[in-house]
Amino acid sequence: MTHDAAPQPEARPRVLIIDDLIDVHRLISVRLRAEGLDFFGTTSGEEGLALAASQLPALILLDLELGSVHGLGVLKELKASAATQDIPVIIISGNQHAHEKVKAFDLGAVDYVTKPFEMTELRVRIRQALKMRHLVQMLAQRAQVDGLTGLWNRAFFNKRWAEEVERAARHRHSLAVAMLDIDHFKSINDTFGHSAGDAALQGVAKIIQRCCRNHDLVCRYGGEEFVIVMPETCPADAAVMGERIRHAIELEEWPRHPQRRLTASIGISGTTASNTGTADAIVEQADRNLYKAKHSGRNRVVWTDWLTPPATGNIAA
Ligand code: GH3
Ligand code: MG
Ligand code: MG
Ligand code: MG
Repeated sequence: MTHDAAPQPEARPRVLIIDDLIDVHRLISVRLRAEGLDFFGTTSGEEGLALAASQLPALILLDLELGSVHGLGVLKELKASAATQDIPVIIISGNQHAHEKVKAFDLGAVDYVTKPFEMTELRVRIRQALKMRHLVQMLAQRAQVDGLTGLWNRAFFNKRWAEEVERAARHRHSLAVAMLDIDHFKSINDTFGHSAGDAALQGVAKIIQRCCRNHDLVCRYGGEEFVIVMPETCPADAAVMGERIRHAIELEEWPRHPQRRLTASIGISGTTASNTGTADAIVEQADRNLYKAKHSGRNRVVWTDWLTPPATGNIAA
């Protein structure tokens, strides 16, 4: 999967109401009908937790007096679960005591509205919470994207790679990774200037993305190195993909230096259904294969599974 542009706010954000009084549900959904929100809800704290986890709403409005369950307990559980901890929660409660408000904010509520509430006030607080959520999502995404190329960055790769390896092992799927390093890139900078080097990095990023499938993950690993995660792909098939990328880079003409083409070396490794490996071991093998590609002449692809050391002449044609 390549990354999309910045996350867009949903057309109709879904808002979960957890309040033991059904009249509150009716009041909010009727009076805020024009807000473009999809309200759904429950009168029970336990069911609220289940709905939050299964529906992942954009926002939760949570009452504190929920009959047998206390809303702060529900809030605590929402914040303790990885799936629901980022969903903003606005407390709506008849309890006006400062210490109750402090407890709610300490537990992670984004806002606290006291009942009986002014609908106009609840409306702006909901808008504000949704706006904040969108900003947080954008920042979180930006922190995982490389500024120069727009590809995923290394931090994102590290996280996703570990997850992909685990998933592949669990389902006994194959999984491949390609490490790509531009050949003699330093001389591009030295000869044509750093900004021509930057343009080349952007161009190579585009070529890689063009050659990859939608569910492949293209990342900038560092400097002039890229890494491509190919789920459900065995190393031999990844080598075919690697060769396509290598060839496309070799063919590309560069407006900033038409007299000088670029080439790249690629090392590939991966698992097959019967041969799973650890995240580090697979990447180390891809790195060794890249090293081999460099030292056997550059502008080539060297691939093996994650266990087998690269053999001489092991180049995908
Ligand atoms: P090799 O074929 O062995 O990989 O040689 P190389 O010149 O590509 O490798 P080396 O590691 O010596 O040089 C990498 C260069 O990449 C050096 C560094 O200045 C350049 N580089 C790293 N990041 C950037 C960047 O963001 N922009 C530009 N323009 N250059 C970068
Ligand atoms: Mg209540
Ligand atoms: Mg390098
Ligand atoms: Mg290089």
